[in-house]
Amino acid sequence: MRCEVVAVGTELLLGQIVDTNSAWIGEQLALAGIDSHFQTKVGDNHARMVSVLRLALERSDAVIVCGGLGPTQDDITREAIAEVMGVSLELDEAAASRIEAMFSGRGRRMPMNNLRQAEVPVGATAIADPQPGTAPGLICPVAGTGDPTRPGSEKVIYAVPGVPREMKVLVGEVIVPDLVRRSGVSSTIVSRTLRTWGESESGLAERLAPRVAELDRRFDAGEGGSVTIAYLASGIEGIKVRLTAKAADTVTAEALLAEEEAEVRAELGDLVFGVNDETIEASVLSLLRARGLTLGVAESLTGGLMGARICDVPGASDVFRGSIVSYASDVKFSVLGVPAGPVVTAEAAMAMATGARRVLGSDVAVAVTGVAGPDPQEGIAPGTVYVGLDLGDVDGPKGVEAFEVKLPGGRAEVRQFSVITAMNALRTRLLLCQPDGG
Ligand code: ATP
Ligand code: MG
Repeated sequence: MRCEVVAVGTELLLGQIVDTNSAWIGEQLALAGIDSHFQTKVGDNHARMVSVLRLALERSDAVIVCGGLGPTQDDITREAIAEVMGVSLELDEAAASRIEAMFSGRGRRMPMNNLRQAEVPVGATAIADPQPGTAPGLICPVAGTGDPTRPGSEKVIYAVPGVPREMKVLVGEVIVPDLVRRSGVSSTIVSRTLRTWGESESGLAERLAPRVAELDRRFDAGEGGSVTIAYLASGIEGIKVRLTAKAADTVTAEALLAEEEAEVRAELGDLVFGVNDETIEASVLSLLRARGLTLGVAESLTGGLMGARICDVPGASDVFRGSIVSYASDVKFSVLGVPAGPVVTAEAAMAMATGARRVLGSDVAVAVTGVAGPDPQEGIAPGTVYVGLDLGDVDGPKGVEAFEVKLPGGRAEVRQFSVITAMNALRTRLLLCQPDGG
């Protein structure tokens, strides 16, 4: 069963709203094991909607159309579907009285336009329950597209309102179950994302190549369910390694994912900092929390960004002592005790970290200083950043260190990359020193 998604609305093409509906529907289809190979956006134009729907029906078994079911003249999804079906629209009496009841229930007069929402292509079904908004969802079998010997095997267009809340109710409760029933088989697709920092996309692919070859071999040999590995470069969020398992049921798919995650972690080791939505800040905070350690931060070019990202993690307060935004050089000198002199150096980064530990009274501290750009500063190229770490008593006498990185991009990227680089340095450093001090 192949099902594609068509999102209707000129405002989607103009970039006035982002098509989050298609992304959500795509995820639901994947979870239900329904293949979905195309997503299309089309404006509120009759001829173009008709041609998009015809094309979709040529290459897929079902189409979910979202948007354009409203009461106004530019809401023409119903008309376009009727044309593709080769039928006219007729008033669905039951839908009309439900709409009338909705208005009278709220004590409001119903504009006659709203009755347009009860018009249904001949041969289509208006979904009576649930009807989360004014417009009912539609199930529209397209005559002549199925196997003539199997009644009910026609291809089908589903229409749902564009309003995300209404769309989700209809897709989740009615349409996906209907698609699964029509497809006759049920399998499920589940994915898990391992988030990495510190290795390029091609470097990751190289390391995992033997694993991918093994998965391909198993698939070709028909052994067990199938797992695939994909890479997703996500800029300042690192590179994501997505594992996807397809199996008869969720329990089996989850078991395949767990096995594959263990294999991938064995290969990538500390490069993996989190799973799914876990940020690097969150993973650093849990490492510190597990050891009962507190964190202090000193920031120069990031100007509070690091502290802000740490505070985004719920429950940060038991670990995070605070951040000192020492942007001007003389603040680094007077507040943090950095020795007078150049401030974009490894020595300054170490002194900042030590100063933050002292002033904030934290067990460990991390500091960043550098040139965000776009212009060089005192002859130092933009993107030059020093990260300082002071691990205090956690790692004995060698607890203070710093390193230099050259970060790519404009001012915004350099500042964001500085945060993730500093957080990752602290994370890998903590993993190196044993919690028991041994
Ligand atoms: P209504 O009956 O409210 O007019 P409709 O079916 O005509 O519903 P649209 O007019 O296309 O739907 O969209 C209504 C609202 O739903 C939009 O203003 C927008 O906020 C949201 N919306 C529409 N399409 C999408 C989409 N693809 N992704 C996210 N939001 C959407
Ligand atoms: Mg509308």
